[in-house]
Amino acid sequence: EALQGLLLARIRDVPDYPKPGVMFKDITPLLADPAAFEALTDALAELCTRHGATKVVGLEARGFILGAPAAIRAGLGFVPVRKAGKLPGATLAQAYELEYGTAEIEVHAEDLVPGDRVMVIDDVLATGGTAEASLQLIRRAGAEIAGVAVLMELAFLNGRDRLTPTLAGGPVEAL
Ligand code: 5GP
Repeated sequence: EALQGLLLARIRDVPDYPKPGVMFKDITPLLADPAAFEALTDALAELCTRHGATKVVGLEARGFILGAPAAIRAGLGFVPVRKAGKLPGATLAQAYELEYGTAEIEVHAEDLVPGDRVMVIDDVLATGGTAEASLQLIRRAGAEIAGVAVLMELAFLNGRDRLTPTLAGGPVEAL
């Protein structure tokens, strides 16, 4: 597909980053190309509309860069899910397992309310740990989940399967 070719051509493989044996997918060339960035934004916005989202949640930090313009394009509000300790107001927090140790993410409690239908946007779905924790957070806030939309899925890590129980049939869209 034309969109897929355009996006893939602007994602750079960086070997041994952030540690030996990992092939990091660097999206900065895509962000620097206005045609590719706009095509990505349009595609993410269309997924929000197609799945009936009323709000976009972006995951720190590249989910902010992709999610915010997509939200605007779709006519929706944007809510940041941040690493613990960054949000000044009253938050809901969710811990999750990393390869070594645990991490915690937070959202402002008042930004997600019952009746919201949320599309979660990030750049890369890897093990699914980050997206899964964000889905738990959204559910605990009483909001519904429209789906998860990412630029790229590292399918060999099976992150999609990890999201299935919480998504309960909701879509995982990887452009
Ligand atoms: P997961 O929790 O699914 O294992 O990891 C996904 C999170 O780590 C996302 O927030 C994503 O930004 C980041 N991430 C993991 N691997 C990569 C990668 O190869 N490239 C980029 N750009 N982000 C990655």
